[in-house]
Amino acid sequence: MTEEISRRTLFEMTMAGASAAALAGTAAAQTPRPDEGPAGWVRYPESEKVGYAIVGLGKLALEEIIPGFKNARGSKLAAVVSGDPAKARRVAAENGLPATAVYSYENYDRIANDPRIQVVYIVLPNSMHAEYTIRALKAGKHVLCEKPMATNVADAEAMIAAARQANRKLMIAYRCHYEPLNLEVMRRVRAGAIGKPRLVVTNMGRQADPTQSFDRWRLDMAMSGGGALADMGVYGVNAARYLLNEEPTEVQAWSSTDRSDPRFKSTEDLIVWQFRFPSGAICNGSTSFSCSPTMAYEVIGETGRLVGDPAAFYGGNRLRVEGQPGEREPKIVQIDQFAREMDWMSDVVRGRAPMVSTGEEGLQDMRLMKAIMDSAAQGGATIKSDWGYRRAVDPAAVVDVPRAV
Ligand code: NDP
Repeated sequence: MTEEISRRTLFEMTMAGASAAALAGTAAAQTPRPDEGPAGWVRYPESEKVGYAIVGLGKLALEEIIPGFKNARGSKLAAVVSGDPAKARRVAAENGLPATAVYSYENYDRIANDPRIQVVYIVLPNSMHAEYTIRALKAGKHVLCEKPMATNVADAEAMIAAARQANRKLMIAYRCHYEPLNLEVMRRVRAGAIGKPRLVVTNMGRQADPTQSFDRWRLDMAMSGGGALADMGVYGVNAARYLLNEEPTEVQAWSSTDRSDPRFKSTEDLIVWQFRFPSGAICNGSTSFSCSPTMAYEVIGETGRLVGDPAAFYGGNRLRVEGQPGEREPKIVQIDQFAREMDWMSDVVRGRAPMVSTGEEGLQDMRLMKAIMDSAAQGGATIKSDWGYRRAVDPAAVVDVPRAV
């Protein structure tokens, strides 16, 4: 069996076994097409690619997401939504879109009448995610929404309710669920490669720069919902949960913020937290907007240690294996994470893939970040709760990792 065929078989198996309920009554029974690409998933003809409207033409949209369509196999740019008409027209023209594919925030609801758009990708400041997600759902579109899904629990719940009411998909853009290093670590942990996991350590931070427009709103509590925690810390909160594939039941946190630093007028800077998990594992997490860039984690088990450093960059993620025989630094395939994530969403819309990073998954992070902020505000009080969430679909069980893009 060639590697390509075995990967194809893996794709079919994972699709078949992923979530029968999620796939029931859909086109999932179709077998992958003969034009399936070498990386192990389908490459669709242009006319069958799912059309996306990108809402908010900022740093992430312009530098990562829109360029990512070039590497996408089943997704294409169909429209842009912006408060800056000149920029929107320029971006549309550069990407071969007609003037009719440019929307403003005011005429946004007219996307309801635009069949070119199937998915709306929300890439706005966090405080705007709920409103623009709910308006898109009401317009009959599916939504892919950037992390964190909102600035508070109530908005996240309203987004999930709106998706249910509209009978449309709501996916949160947790790109690490579709990324080779993270999937590799999840699979090694699930396979018992480091014995029982005991400790997860996540450190996510950088220096915020208030001279940059994209950092000004991040330093504003009302717009970001939590400064470094909402921007960077959320990766660690989410990672601890998907690495262990269980949910915390106790949270304790502390913060340390230099109020003489003009950046931290409304948000906390350094926050550290601990999560206690039912298995007995503990997570130590940290985040900061006044530290050297880090997006690293490690999982320490009874017999080995897996270190991802960096673990969540757009590229160049590296895995180190300690205390285990075999390769110490396995090769991690580099992919276009945004293309992969959008293609997954497109397959969810087609009924060919199960939803992995659900609204409920995003809501759980909102609840845990609230617990972290509440505990820190109380000087490290222990907050105990079940929080009620259980992941329905484990990314490690369903998401195929391509060889290369
Ligand atoms: P930017 O500030 O660069 O872009 C946000 C865009 O939103 C702006 O350019 C603007 O676009 C639009 N906007 C509308 N109203 C406002 C307003 N009042 N203030 C500021 N912008 C406004 O942010 P990013 O692109 O860095 O982040 C956008 C989202 O993506 C955030 O939710 C962030 O958390 C997430 N993100 C996710 C990453 C990931 O790896 N998954 C990485 C980076 C960010 P326009 O001029 O077109 O109206």
